[in-house]
Amino acid sequence: MSSRNEYLFEQSQHVIPGGVNSPVRAFKSVGGTPLFFKRGQGAYVWDADDKRYIDYVGSWGPMIVGHCHPAVVTAVQEAASQGLGFGAPTANELEMAELLCKILPSIEMVRLVSSGTEATMTAIRLARGFTGRSRIIKFEGCYHGHSDGLLVKAGSGALTFGQPSSSGVPAEIAALTTVLDYNDVSGLERTFAAIGNEIAAVIVEPVAGNMNLIIPKREFLNTLRALCTKHGAVLILDEVMSGFRISLQGAQGHYGIKPDLVTLGKVMGGGLPAAAFGGRRDIMQCLAPLGAVYQAGTLSGNPVAVAAGLATLELVQQPDFYKHLSALARQLTEGLEQAAKQHGVDFSAQSIGGMFGLYFRATPPTSYAEVMTCDKEAFNRFFHAMLAEGIYMAPSAFEAGFVSSAHTDADIAQTITIANKIFAAW
Ligand SMILES: *Cc1c(COP(=O)(O)O)cnc(C)c1O
Repeated sequence: MSSRNEYLFEQSQHVIPGGVNSPVRAFKSVGGTPLFFKRGQGAYVWDADDKRYIDYVGSWGPMIVGHCHPAVVTAVQEAASQGLGFGAPTANELEMAELLCKILPSIEMVRLVSSGTEATMTAIRLARGFTGRSRIIKFEGCYHGHSDGLLVKAGSGALTFGQPSSSGVPAEIAALTTVLDYNDVSGLERTFAAIGNEIAAVIVEPVAGNMNLIIPKREFLNTLRALCTKHGAVLILDEVMSGFRISLQGAQGHYGIKPDLVTLGKVMGGGLPAAAFGGRRDIMQCLAPLGAVYQAGTLSGNPVAVAAGLATLELVQQPDFYKHLSALARQLTEGLEQAAKQHGVDFSAQSIGGMFGLYFRATPPTSYAEVMTCDKEAFNRFFHAMLAEGIYMAPSAFEAGFVSSAHTDADIAQTITIANKIFAAW
């Protein structure tokens, strides 16, 4: 009752809708009082009551080298001391652009923005400007930020018109988005056969991380690439989460699939607001001031955010960074699976790179419909039991988890020991 978390949440609800600045933070899915954090260091975060947690959220992905890595903090401090922003070009933006082009061969030109939402929203406008077409395709359960045309769910009329998944999104706008099932190759083929030549773009999370973790079938990604090429639609890989997270070259490197446009965010900002979209030169040249597709941003390429991003990207390029990160994630998911199995709990887990999924069902799901069959009540019970023991997992059964290079073998072992204790008393 006298908890400072509870006091802060209570006060926040008077002045911030729901007491939070982004809905999932409210713990509505799992119940209880959200944590207010005051500090992070390495793999740990401390809440407003000074309780320490091992952090498997990592600010929803950006903190891939852990909180307050000294190289990142120093870069930010140095950049800040030179000026917080100019609204004019800086040399570091060039360095970031060149680095992104170097790491990701699909990017011939790139523009920096401040959030993943901006990146995806603009990539779609750009695809429409480039193709002169209006319709887009997305997949159920994929999240691409909160712009109108992407807050859409499948309509009842099977093939074609999407419906708003948020109040405030006009039905006319949602109708331009067709929503298909993730990993469903035949649905993709049917849709392209019917309306392929009207489609400006397909946007997809090449590894889905916003409906828990869903691994793509290679055939799904390959079909997507082939159909977009055949019908002249722009393939947008939304790697805001998977970029620099599942490998240095993200999902496109891991699966060997080349997008026409790619969107980036999260890790590339190192915890500060930096994001980007880039890709084929002929498409990117349609952007203002070169071309007729308008996009702008007062804070785009902000020097402090770019400094944090550059410092983070330098660290992830160190030899064996992803080998180490992947091993940590695998250690965690294998340990948790084993603990659950030992105590007969219906549970599965998997990881790819530094990203993992936990599922209260016998096998990892491959689609949104399968994710929805996970036992949500079991997850919520597990979440709160772990939280009480100082393990901070994403506060929803439908979010992916993240490890950082700052997690130690001992952190992972401790997490598994605690889970084992919880499953034993299940
Ligand atoms: C987080 C995320 C976004 C939105 O990025 P914001 O910076 O929150 O606007 C878009 N796409 C994917 C795949 C994401 O994970």
